[in-house]
Amino acid sequence: MAANRHAWSVEASCKMEQMIDTQTPWPVISAALGYTVKQCKRKWERMQWNLPQHLPEDVNRTCLGCGKPFIADGKYLRLCPTCRSNAW
Ligand SMILES: [Zn+2]
Repeated sequence: MAANRHAWSVEASCKMEQMIDTQTPWPVISAALGYTVKQCKRKWERMQWNLPQHLPEDVNRTCLGCGKPFIADGKYLRLCPTCRSNAW
């Protein structure tokens, strides 16, 4: 198995999640993160696999950035307000 030269950082995952949450087009996400659209979509699919399927939209989540629990106000949101404001 080839080494993964494009291992995703938590930061990149969070940024992609935010952009998807704000309905950013894939080519823009791709350019912003330095991955191909295909890589972004594949990563996003993997991230979705890891999400519990039965949770309501308004729910306690653990922040991907700092690990603290927070109330998510978006279906895909997994970054607390503090990390969201620091992410850019
Ligand atoms: Zn956080």
